[in-house]
Amino acid sequence: MGNFFDESVLVTATVGERPVVCSYCDNARFGTRRIKLNTSGAEFFGFAWANKESLALICSECGGIHEFLDGVVQTTPAS
Ligand SMILES: [Zn+2]
Repeated sequence: MGNFFDESVLVTATVGERPVVCSYCDNARFGTRRIKLNTSGAEFFGFAWANKESLALICSECGGIHEFLDGVVQTTPAS
């Protein structure tokens, strides 16, 4: 495992002051992907999700996906 992303694109991430660590394998390096939160189901949930995005952190070790609302996560290139 661990070949999901090129090393050069990996990041570490924090939410507030807390580092994000994979909840499955404790790895702290992730690939990222922005995900549109589309409007289907918006009325069902009572939220206006139109044009919102989330940021998915994809664990470089196990592929586990940790998804956050846009603007919540700070990312830093992993050296
Ligand atoms: Zn993991």
